[in-house]
Amino acid sequence: MLAERLLQGPFRRAILSGAEAEAGRIFASELQGGGAPASGRVALIGCGPGDPDLLTLKALQRLQEADVLVVDRLVEPKILEYARRDAERIFVGKTPGGPTTSQAEINRILVREAGAGKVVARLKGGDPFIFGRAAEEMAVLQSAGIAVEVVPGVTAAHACAARIGLPVTLRERVRHFSVVTGATADGAPDLDWQALAAPSTAFAVYMGIGNAPLLRCHLLAAGADPDTPVVIVENGTREDERAFATTLADLTDCVAGQAIAGPAVIFVGLDWETGGLCRPETVIVHRRQNRPAQNRDCDDVIANAEALP
Ligand code: SAH
Repeated sequence: MLAERLLQGPFRRAILSGAEAEAGRIFASELQGGGAPASGRVALIGCGPGDPDLLTLKALQRLQEADVLVVDRLVEPKILEYARRDAERIFVGKTPGGPTTSQAEINRILVREAGAGKVVARLKGGDPFIFGRAAEEMAVLQSAGIAVEVVPGVTAAHACAARIGLPVTLRERVRHFSVVTGATADGAPDLDWQALAAPSTAFAVYMGIGNAPLLRCHLLAAGADPDTPVVIVENGTREDERAFATTLADLTDCVAGQAIAGPAVIFVGLDWETGGLCRPETVIVHRRQNRPAQNRDCDDVIANAEALP
């Protein structure tokens, strides 16, 4: 019966979750006697950098209505406690140097689950549109005719900056802030080093720890001031969060000396003093002992990187 189908089926679920457009589509399809409409859909959900309190209300809603969770490695496990207990969980982590689910396989899983009529929550760390490969998943879903929605999340740079009270723009002082990747599929990034090295430039590097020596050398070679402030936040908003204040010249020494290995954001060109603010005591100041006057090591670092296939 139509009424029964409406009260129990995907229409009800869509109404309860506030997905009005989807509900309208299902209603129209049911009126035409159209049997089971394709109700499967995917929400690409930004889950923030770790702390579940940073989830948006919309993320929480979408999480709770999902039949299937497709979960990235950087999603904090505590967040899964907010999902329905009976929701199926598929982990598709990309662990550096460890087991990896290819993007093609993830795409196949999304199409398969939503294509089977399930409501899929695709959980991603931070914001899906910032180094989150959301576009690739959206494109595949769109071409398969599957409804896909993006739920924004708090990106790592913003959450990390907030944790240590470090504004990423300052009136009259820092008018431009950007985010760049420190790693690409081919290894070293090909960034506009001249622009990044210019005075008063502020940016956050994601995925930059592995290439920190190269990042430092490219910026120094492009004329950046060796004393440019650098702040690193590792495992931001998680229990094992650590934060360091150093300089561009001492960046490599800081990463190695402090054994920074977790996900970390490297802020370049931002400090507390410029805004008249205090550096929190939890931030560890790292300076290299006996820093050489010049950075001669950089010729080798850049030459070695260029020699890579
Ligand atoms: N979409 C994510 C970024 C994914 S790329 C976002 O918007 O935040 C992965 C990179 O994000 C990591 O290499 C690191 O640079 C950063 N990152 C993710 N979680 C982090 C955290 N809890 N603390 C610090 N950096 C984090």
